[in-house]
Amino acid sequence: MKIIGHGGKEIVERVMDPRQAVDKIRGLTRIPIRDQLAREVVMLSYGFFTPLQGFMTKADVDGVVANMRLTDGTVWSIPIVFDLANEEIDAKRIKQGDTLLLTYQDQPMATLDVEEIFSYDLQKMAEKIYGTAEEKHPGCARTYKYADRFIGGKVTLVNPPKMSEPFDRFFFTPRQLRAKIAEKGWLRSVAHQTRNVPHSGHEWLMKGSWIACHGDLPVEKIVTGIVVSAVMGEKRKGDYIDEAIVLTHDALRTYGYFREDVHITSIVLWDMRYAGPKEAIFHAILRTNLGLTHHMFGRDHAGVGTYYDPYDAHRIFDTISEDDLRIKPIRVLAWWFCPVCGEVTYSGLCGHTKERQNFSGTVVRSIIQDGVRPPRIIFRPEVFDLIMETAEKYGFGSPYVGDEYLAKRNPLFTVPPLKL
Ligand SMILES: [Zn+2]
Repeated sequence: MKIIGHGGKEIVERVMDPRQAVDKIRGLTRIPIRDQLAREVVMLSYGFFTPLQGFMTKADVDGVVANMRLTDGTVWSIPIVFDLANEEIDAKRIKQGDTLLLTYQDQPMATLDVEEIFSYDLQKMAEKIYGTAEEKHPGCARTYKYADRFIGGKVTLVNPPKMSEPFDRFFFTPRQLRAKIAEKGWLRSVAHQTRNVPHSGHEWLMKGSWIACHGDLPVEKIVTGIVVSAVMGEKRKGDYIDEAIVLTHDALRTYGYFREDVHITSIVLWDMRYAGPKEAIFHAILRTNLGLTHHMFGRDHAGVGTYYDPYDAHRIFDTISEDDLRIKPIRVLAWWFCPVCGEVTYSGLCGHTKERQNFSGTVVRSIIQDGVRPPRIIFRPEVFDLIMETAEKYGFGSPYVGDEYLAKRNPLFTVPPLKL
């Protein structure tokens, strides 16, 4: 059965059985790839980036940079490119028409058809995507680190990676997640993008967006769900460790804060670009391909520093028609704790602006670092205990990424040995 994703395009899985691939890949030029590219290869191959089936050619990058569209007219906001140094292209005599064997963790992983080799003005790319060319913007910094040339062309996974524990329980391809949603009988589903462990403010963001998403549907039978979609990519010091993020979100359901039939925890592999509004569009595209109907966007979605107005990521959806992007944005303000109301409440409703207490990053961090359970209205006790447990089990004593975690953590996935 055809599965239709973003832009009305079919979701195509470009994945081969390794036993069948062996004969085709023997003798191909090998290119070892870094973590970011390996993650993008996985996403491309399973159709998370539909309609893309590979890394962009120059015309597509041009379209994305100039007017946020691929050459076929589909809305697309972030360049997905494969970079390679001139020296390597020369040394390995790579040319248009070749097929390359991408290796990761010293194993064959995927093939890349070389449709085009091109260079690009990186400053122009940065400026158009991020609205700034400043090197201190992390998205610009990532752009400037690209090697001299780009290779555009389709990728095919020839040796599918194995997700490590505990991520294996949360990784669903677009096809798998759609099947899971169908099994639950949901007519609507809202994405909650996250890189955090959930305090009550997050819990209410999800509950509020579920209520908005459910809207006018009958209530006797629940046909609306929340899909937590945690972004797993490059970690920086001070981020929450990946294991804590997925396990604590999942605990909100297992401990009943969300009913079993309304909540799924899942992951996507993606290195945040912090492109604010443009990244909000990209996240919407990803979750369209996962089969979701709605996407929650909070304050300063995918923003960084003061580069974007906190609600730029809300406004950009006004510029795109429903035909171009079928997932519906649910735009929300902050949830805060109000001692007068005596509860976590919505800033769009509570009038106690003087008394309210924001869930600021600094306050939450100091609560976690104290290690003493806060009131359950701030953190669910099971969630808080689990943060501490995951810190011991996976985080070398801390739920925050540190040097030891960066050096020794379990990889998100491993590529199985494949003898050619
Ligand atoms: Zn209040």
